[in-house]
Amino acid sequence: MNQRVYLDNNATTPLDPAVISAFSEALTLFGNPSSMHSFGREAASLVADARNEAAAILGATPGEIIFTSGGTESNNTVLSSFAPGIPAGDSVILPPPDRSELVVSAIEHPAILETAFALRDRYGITVHLAPVDTTGRIDLEALTHLVSEKTALVSIMLANNEIGTIQDLAAISAIAHKAGAFVHTDAVQAVGKIPLDVAALGVDYLSASAHKIHGPKGIGLLWMRRGVPFAPFMHGGHQEYGRRAGTVNAPAIAAFGTACRISREQLGPEAARLAGLRDRLRAGIEERISDTSVNGNREFCLPNTLNMSFRAAEGESTLLYLDLENIAVSTGSACASGSLEPSHVLLACGLTAELAHGSIRFSLGRTTTDEDIDYVLEKLPPIMARIRSMSTLR
Ligand code: PLP
Repeated sequence: MNQRVYLDNNATTPLDPAVISAFSEALTLFGNPSSMHSFGREAASLVADARNEAAAILGATPGEIIFTSGGTESNNTVLSSFAPGIPAGDSVILPPPDRSELVVSAIEHPAILETAFALRDRYGITVHLAPVDTTGRIDLEALTHLVSEKTALVSIMLANNEIGTIQDLAAISAIAHKAGAFVHTDAVQAVGKIPLDVAALGVDYLSASAHKIHGPKGIGLLWMRRGVPFAPFMHGGHQEYGRRAGTVNAPAIAAFGTACRISREQLGPEAARLAGLRDRLRAGIEERISDTSVNGNREFCLPNTLNMSFRAAEGESTLLYLDLENIAVSTGSACASGSLEPSHVLLACGLTAELAHGSIRFSLGRTTTDEDIDYVLEKLPPIMARIRSMSTLR
């Protein structure tokens, strides 16, 4: 049997064995963390420990973190806190009334873009898309012109899920704050992969998700600086300081806390190891296969991410042939309503639709080994030759 090689860690990661242990142990502590008796207190103490671990990986204060169902909910919560007409309420901090515009980058994850467009369609607010350069870095000059006294919130991801490009959030925050706007960053792909400190980033809100750092799916967090505008997205009980209703998912939170701890403890050496493997993969591909180009930024890039375009080779074909060899990657196209749309991220970086269609994302993770890279370098060149020999694009 061939080995199985999983190079799709930006989509999701396998659970770390220590996370599985923490998760299953926590599953037996079934008390409701909101209950005052000992069963509840046991579960509440797991949640408190996890909040401390989550705070440690962000350089944040535990009391400024709420647990959510994941990156998508955290992003929705922040953006909808800036919708017009929110009634005052217990846990509500209203945004400045004279500011309604949103600025988001052109390469955000759909959890930001679609939320911003939904708010635009529902409330008629203006959404500006901040452009990026050919490597996916925000054009700071253009951003300066988009942000004004009407801007309520600037939301720009810390690291991109498709190409791995890392933004200069400190500079972005400075531009936004100078204009009096608040700043959110979707750090779902950055947490656990690069050193991170909310104070250094200068942001007001940050979203993270457990399943990108070898934790379980369906659990994430939202960090927010004290006193910033906020409206609960989920209404109901008073869990999470009245900011996120719903019985607290203590086992998943405990598992997330463990995932945060492991990622924080391993961060430096693991990032170096992954960058080494990633660079070997890139060099090996460039050596063996002609007509390739690397997408993203070489200097400011997640250590685990490599996005390459292969001319005259549809990404979907490459993905399926690699899958037949038990290698999992992803492509620069999203299957939307039956048609294959080229990636909005790659198009925003100026790629042609053809090159965007021919892109493959290799995203490495904790389980990736030297042997995995050797295996891909053995299997990919003949696959590419076969696809190109059949291609009408050539
Ligand atoms: N933001 C980014 C950049 C992502 O990559 C993802 C997941 O793919 C999300 C948000 C959504 O996170 P979740 O799956 O936890 O809802």
